[in-house]
Amino acid sequence: MINYKHIAFIGLGLIASSIALAIKRTGQPLRVTGTSRSKSTRLKAKKMGLCEVFETSGEAVEGADLIVLCVPVGVMGEMVDQISPYLKCGSTVTDVGSVKESVIFQVLPKLPSGVFFLPGHPLAGTEHSGPESGIESLFDNRWCILTPLPETPGDKIDQLRNFWEALGANVEEMTPTHHDLVLAVTSHAPHLIAFTMVGVADDFSKVSKSEVINYSAAGFRDFTRIASSDPTMWRDVFLNNKEASLEILGRFTEELFALQSAIRRGDGQQLYDYFSRTRAIRRKIIHAGQDTDQANFGRKT
Ligand code: NAP
Repeated sequence: MINYKHIAFIGLGLIASSIALAIKRTGQPLRVTGTSRSKSTRLKAKKMGLCEVFETSGEAVEGADLIVLCVPVGVMGEMVDQISPYLKCGSTVTDVGSVKESVIFQVLPKLPSGVFFLPGHPLAGTEHSGPESGIESLFDNRWCILTPLPETPGDKIDQLRNFWEALGANVEEMTPTHHDLVLAVTSHAPHLIAFTMVGVADDFSKVSKSEVINYSAAGFRDFTRIASSDPTMWRDVFLNNKEASLEILGRFTEELFALQSAIRRGDGQQLYDYFSRTRAIRRKIIHAGQDTDQANFGRKT
């Protein structure tokens, strides 16, 4: 059950659109408003009937109980500069950004007193962007992490927790620092590795003509899906989660060197043991209901 009467979005891309569709699915008669930087995105959202679309962020947030910042993490502070004079006393501002410490650092000093900031991050998404890519079931059985500040009242946390649960998500709380480290392992570093591998293949394809495209096998195709994600969003993720990303990439490089050395030495046992360990992780993810157990993600080829 959603306990807000009026929800406002700043940014109307994939995540805002998915939230708006999931709100509609609940059947609760709430007021939903929003805005986006470009006229074309605003028009798309309006055409889809996602929410009441306004030209300015001030108009979009006026009177809202919950304001959801759905823009790249590098511009969260800038957005709060624009909306802060229009925020209602007692309202909650949250965000969906993939990094938490830096967003708190940007947003908190800019909020007027009497407005609560409760950072959040739904661990659900796709490589697509824009309101037309929204999916109403995107958050079903996926985790949404909240990183409440010590001063945030318990009833405000419960209210946001209920909101995400009504959209289908499971909610977990952790500290922002811990969030950023966990996500560096599970999302940020894997994306950087995919971007790199596709870049390497692209360089290689220049000498091998179109072989990389024509003969692309499942492993590489999965990398290309990840590496087609929005460049602005991912640039901002790495610039705003520098420390944790570099820590995990350092560890990755050490492991990569160890495997490289095993290949050079012909140490089949080391490779076999390593791959057996990683295979077990996949089984755990499927067991936790976080992915399908169909071969090749259920694709036909
Ligand atoms: P998206 O579909 O690309 O939409 C981005 C939105 O932000 C659009 O409304 C866009 O406006 C606006 N925007 C972009 N640059 C801006 C700028 N410089 N100033 C003001 N507005 C700007 O992105 P999304 O996937 O919904 O991502 C939104 C947030 O969710 C990000 O913080 C991301 O880290 C987080 N997130 C994403 C995923 C995912 O898988 N995609 C998952 C979890 C969390 P215009 O279209 O009008 O230009």
